[in-house]
Amino acid sequence: MCAGCRERADKRTLIRLVWNGADSVTVDQRQRLPGRGVYLHAPCAERALKTRAIARGLRRTLDGAALREVLTALAARPDEPSVG
Ligand SMILES: [Zn+2]
Repeated sequence: MCAGCRERADKRTLIRLVWNGADSVTVDQRQRLPGRGVYLHAPCAERALKTRAIARGLRRTLDGAALREVLTALAARPDEPSVG
C-alpha cells in the first residue's frame, strides 16, 4: 500500500524507503533491504512527508534534515530502475 494516497498497489510500482539503522532513510532500490520499510508512489512522496505517513510507517521521528534527505534520495532515483 502507498503511504501517501493509501491505495493498494503492486509494490513493483512503488518506491520502498527503509530506515538505515543509524539516522537516515534510504531508498531501497531492490526492495530487499532488511528493516522497517514504507512503500510510496513517487508522486505521493511529498504528501506522505507532509502527513507524516513516512515517519509513522518507519516508526521514527523524522526531523527536517531527514525529510530533505528522503526527497533528495527520491529525486536522485533513476526513472528506470534496473531489474533483477
Ligand atoms: Zn500513492
